[in-house]
Amino acid sequence: CGIVGYIGSNDAKEILLKGLEKLEYRGYDSAGIAVSNGEGVHVFKEKGRIADLRKIVDGEVFAPTGIGHTRWATHGVPSRVNAHPHKSASGRFTIVHNGVIENYDLLKKEYLPNEELKSDTDTEVVVQLIEHFVETGLDIKVAFVQTLKLLKGSYAIALLDDQNKEVIYVAKNKSPLLVGLGDSFNVVASDAMAMLQVTDQYVELVDKEIVIVKKDGISIETLDGKVISREAYTAELDA
Ligand code: GLU
Repeated sequence: CGIVGYIGSNDAKEILLKGLEKLEYRGYDSAGIAVSNGEGVHVFKEKGRIADLRKIVDGEVFAPTGIGHTRWATHGVPSRVNAHPHKSASGRFTIVHNGVIENYDLLKKEYLPNEELKSDTDTEVVVQLIEHFVETGLDIKVAFVQTLKLLKGSYAIALLDDQNKEVIYVAKNKSPLLVGLGDSFNVVASDAMAMLQVTDQYVELVDKEIVIVKKDGISIETLDGKVISREAYTAELDA
């Protein structure tokens, strides 16, 4: 139901948790964050409230990159296993997703016939597909685009690669997603309100674009590889 992300130099955990708290009013059944510090991506997720999630987040892990999610279950019951983030089979890729992938079952049968999925979500198929295409030799960005082109339905997605903590990959189709710009950091949010705590400068994303988010800049491309430049706008705090 909500997505946040942070990439910079500070610790991502508290920024992500605060961001998720700002999205609580929208309703959700579970929540999670994944943080990356070059020594793997650590996932913390829990059924229930952000307050429950806070209790299991390991305060010792310092990580300047991360993504977070509040889930409103559409496929698979509310549970810790079905909560996002979801990892690929090898653990290399970690995803959060809002929306519904209508053809996840067909994609699973066609591309991942032998893959044993860990969750009952439509979302897990997306991260497994990305890994599948990377394993066939594609570069990660190409694998991500290839996967997005196969998806039917709605999505806002943020993706981490545990081999590169310098990037968050994001994309959207029919679900809201923004990139927020900071000074030596950038953020991702399904609603600017989540990240007004750190910036009021936002770039709106358009359906069927992917964005490479790094701490010092972002680059936007269409799925067909056309480079897009778009100005940021100033988000106003609601009274
Ligand atoms: N369809 C996904 C799920 O059930 C995402 C739901 C959401 O938007 O929170 O896990």
